[in-house]
Amino acid sequence: MKRRRFIKRASLAGFGLAVSSTVVSCVDSPSEKNKNMMSMTKNPFPKAICTWGFVNANAKAGDALSKGVKALDAAIAGVAVEEENIKNTTVGKGGTPDREGNVTLDACVMDTNGDCGAVVCVEGFTNVAALAKKVMKDTPHVMLAGKGAEEFALAQGFKKEELLTEDSKKAWQEWLKFPEYKPLINIENHDTIGMLCIDNDGDIAGACTTSGLSYKMKGRIGDSAVIGAGLFLDNDIGGAVATGMGEEILKTVGSFLIVELMRNGMSPQAACEEAIRRIVTKNKGYKEFQIAYIAINKAGDIGAYCIHEGFTYMKYEDGKNENVPSDYFNKV
Ligand code: ASP
Repeated sequence: MKRRRFIKRASLAGFGLAVSSTVVSCVDSPSEKNKNMMSMTKNPFPKAICTWGFVNANAKAGDALSKGVKALDAAIAGVAVEEENIKNTTVGKGGTPDREGNVTLDACVMDTNGDCGAVVCVEGFTNVAALAKKVMKDTPHVMLAGKGAEEFALAQGFKKEELLTEDSKKAWQEWLKFPEYKPLINIENHDTIGMLCIDNDGDIAGACTTSGLSYKMKGRIGDSAVIGAGLFLDNDIGGAVATGMGEEILKTVGSFLIVELMRNGMSPQAACEEAIRRIVTKNKGYKEFQIAYIAINKAGDIGAYCIHEGFTYMKYEDGKNENVPSDYFNKV
């Protein structure tokens, strides 16, 4: 018998039924540990979670997953619902422009095997999460920006479109009358969709897509397309996605932090809370901005936490798609 197996059996015998995760982690490789975690919990797959109350997007992903679609394609199909929804003014077509009237989109995807792709500051293409997957699959790079990303999109057969709708143009023209840059907490200016899916095989992948902060400076890029900030996952551990003030998420590499905290034994909930705690303890201005994280671990346990009341997330579990209010830090 291999020494590793022997130690495992000895440990189990020694502790009776009390199989602590510490014991498992001492003796198993990460993927074996996760198989054990999965068999010890009652969480069935598939599962999908996404930021905010994007009912249709999460249902689309959940439906695809339950038909056997793999995690990454389900996440891309899910977020595409919001990219194409012109009523959503913070993602894809209909997204609020920068101060000069340009709608520029950022997106990234991360696959089960750790591969990732991203596009930033892209104009004229709606389905930027799908484009990010193309960057991942069909280029030697992880991230393409601006014109290069747009030329690549055209070459890949993506359709060029006007993303500034009549409504978003009118709203921008109104804003220009009093051009103050002041993101409002939980108001339609930071509803990025970040989604994490676990497919029937228990594999995790995710996507994050946004038009960024409303009336941002031209060329501004937030956290959403930055792997580790807006999205991060490790298929042996779990994943996390972010929404809210991208500058603060970037400074703390929030999604990577959450996955690493889960790797070290924290639950998704505790890890999301710690990531928010790091921001609010270092930035006295936290009352002025919102940040929210959602996370899922390999066993399918879910966590969510944000700075201010009002953030909700979607959860597709056991075939049910639910909108869940998140706990929050600022209770005073
Ligand atoms: N995180 C996005 C950004 O900073 C916007 C948001 O989710 O509110 O671009």
